[in-house]
Amino acid sequence: MTGPALLIVEDEQAARRALAEYLGRRGYEVYEAASAREAMRQWDAHRADLVLLDLGLPDLDGIEVIRRIRRDATTPIIILSARGDERDKIEGLEAGADDYLTKPFATDELNARIRAVLRRAGGPDADAQGCLRLGPIELDPVKREVRVSGEPVRLTPREYELLKVMLSNQGRLLTKARLLRAVWGLAYADETAYLHVYVNRLRRKLSAAAPAGSLEGLIETEPGIGYRIADGESLREVPPSRAQLL
Ligand code: CA
Repeated sequence: MTGPALLIVEDEQAARRALAEYLGRRGYEVYEAASAREAMRQWDAHRADLVLLDLGLPDLDGIEVIRRIRRDATTPIIILSARGDERDKIEGLEAGADDYLTKPFATDELNARIRAVLRRAGGPDADAQGCLRLGPIELDPVKREVRVSGEPVRLTPREYELLKVMLSNQGRLLTKARLLRAVWGLAYADETAYLHVYVNRLRRKLSAAAPAGSLEGLIETEPGIGYRIADGESLREVPPSRAQLL
């Protein structure tokens, strides 16, 4: 029995082989591509459940691979990128990638990200009543109310909208521009200072309402890129160790 199918797109052979072997041992069915064109052929042939994508490819920009996949499918895509390629990461996320990992990355981190994006691909985050839940947090869009452990928390309308966008994208890295556009509108896409203030207020209000320490790591900051709210499983998990690097 094999697990979900992964497509690994990476032109550096040693790195690709190491990833493929590691993930194969973890029970995934693994396909490999060393170029953008090969990636598209593999994608058309196998429709993997998740794509791990290096953006620096010898033939075409990896962004083209994201666009090509997004024409057909919402299949999760995790960018594998070199440290410091902030603009690439942002462009990739805006083109529809779900997350990124900076090389070299720990296998624990890789596993956690893969599991998170696969879980999310399983279905929308809202229940039948449209309520969004994460750990002790519950957002009720009908009453426009947020409750933590069943008790209402007072949020401003912007804080509420920000939390709603994040809870609709649990485990997903959202760029600052995307959050600003979603909550404040197009004209505010560059006002990243706003966002910082609002995210911190949200963290404070939600943590204060929850049992001590239970919402630690709820909203993670990705410096220069954006924010990621935990998903239910990662809230319960211990932080990944950095023991084994790939
Ligand atoms: Ca490369």
